[in-house]
Amino acid sequence: MDTVTLAGTQVSRATLHNPDFIAAKDIRVGDTVYLHKAGDIIPEVSRVDLQRRPADSAPYAVPTRCPSCGAELVHIEDEVALRCINPACPAQMQARLTHFASRGAMNIDGLGPKIIAQLLDRGLVHDVADLYTLTADSLGQLDKFKEKSIANLLQAIDNSRHNSVERLLTGLGIRHVGGKAAALIAEAFGDVDTMMAADADAIAAVPGVGPIIADAVVQYCAQPESAALFTKLADAGVNLRYTTSVPTPAADSFVSGQTVVITGKFEAFFAA
Ligand SMILES: [Zn+2]
Repeated sequence: MDTVTLAGTQVSRATLHNPDFIAAKDIRVGDTVYLHKAGDIIPEVSRVDLQRRPADSAPYAVPTRCPSCGAELVHIEDEVALRCINPACPAQMQARLTHFASRGAMNIDGLGPKIIAQLLDRGLVHDVADLYTLTADSLGQLDKFKEKSIANLLQAIDNSRHNSVERLLTGLGIRHVGGKAAALIAEAFGDVDTMMAADADAIAAVPGVGPIIADAVVQYCAQPESAALFTKLADAGVNLRYTTSVPTPAADSFVSGQTVVITGKFEAFFAA
């Protein structure tokens, strides 16, 4: 919107929530609207000023096809959100790879959205496992990507092979599985094969996980593409085991061999 001052701040965007909200208020492109701040914080459209509506205005048509790949959009179960479910959708592949490389997931330093866009454009990468097939020669094809950057990126990719598996599980973008759930599942099952063999009840029984996450994991594992991807990752030397170690006291620590009961607040385990 044209920027206005609203309750003390400059506002140029307001939430439209979802298509139901837009339809209920009949908000159209080009409209003049009244705004308020919901909960004194979030700018929201109160109503449309119909006097100022352009003569050629038409109701807003919700897209039916993905703007990136043209696939038909679907509602999953009774969600309001529209989703593109084409596994080969380029916009999703770009976002998936960016998430995979991000700090909270595989933490591949130097592999940002711009590099990923080029890797996809040049057909050097089609899925996350292809990252592990990149070479100095293939990266040399990228724009303004010099020897030093190439060496650093290859090193960062190689380092990520040794991550404990919860980083991989986070990076795969399994629905409802963020870093915390991935860590709980990885610790409980120890490796990908054991997780793949577990049923929804076993996964839901992991403290802190629950049935929604468990169903999403089982659904992900049931897809043949998932098993193929894990095989491809293993063949590329990517670690599929939980290797995060629980901190243990040094042998000469005053708590070594002791059972300790703690009350109150403390900031680090075995700081001694
Ligand atoms: Zn798409």
